[in-house]
Amino acid sequence: MKRDRLVRDSKEFAFTKLLTCGICGSGITADEKYKKLKNGNTASYIYYGCTRSRDLSCKLGYIREEELIKQMLRIVDKIDINEIGLKKQFEEEVMRYNRFQISVLEMNGKEKKIDKKKEFDIKAYAKYILAEGKINEKRELLASLKSRLVLGKDKKLTLKKDETAIGL
Ligand SMILES: [Zn+2]
Repeated sequence: MKRDRLVRDSKEFAFTKLLTCGICGSGITADEKYKKLKNGNTASYIYYGCTRSRDLSCKLGYIREEELIKQMLRIVDKIDINEIGLKKQFEEEVMRYNRFQISVLEMNGKEKKIDKKKEFDIKAYAKYILAEGKINEKRELLASLKSRLVLGKDKKLTLKKDETAIGL
């Protein structure tokens, strides 16, 4: 078996520097791995892992970008929308749409419903960016989170509000 070729720092990745290792507190870095397929094509996979800047023997291991995104989508489903400090521009878009709905559908006294709608739209937008956005859009979204994303034991991604909770 030929060894897979590792390409380091030659490419921009969506989630580097935005995640922290939950085991040792180092940053998270990425590698793109190319694999020759039997049909002659080359497939590429992005893996994220601990930079080990704080602990050279950190046992975090590696996680595929697809799996990381899957976990992020689940987090977006669960979090309070106030945790997503999204662009003002988008918030304004949602509000404009809501005002339109009120005037057209005369939804007076149904503000609760409107809030739900706003929450849905912001989450849907965040998920859309995670799944389909460009690298810079994904980075912007993650950077807008008010808590820190921590990749911990068993490669489980969590949001940590309290920074001191990270085991240093
Ligand atoms: Zn680590």
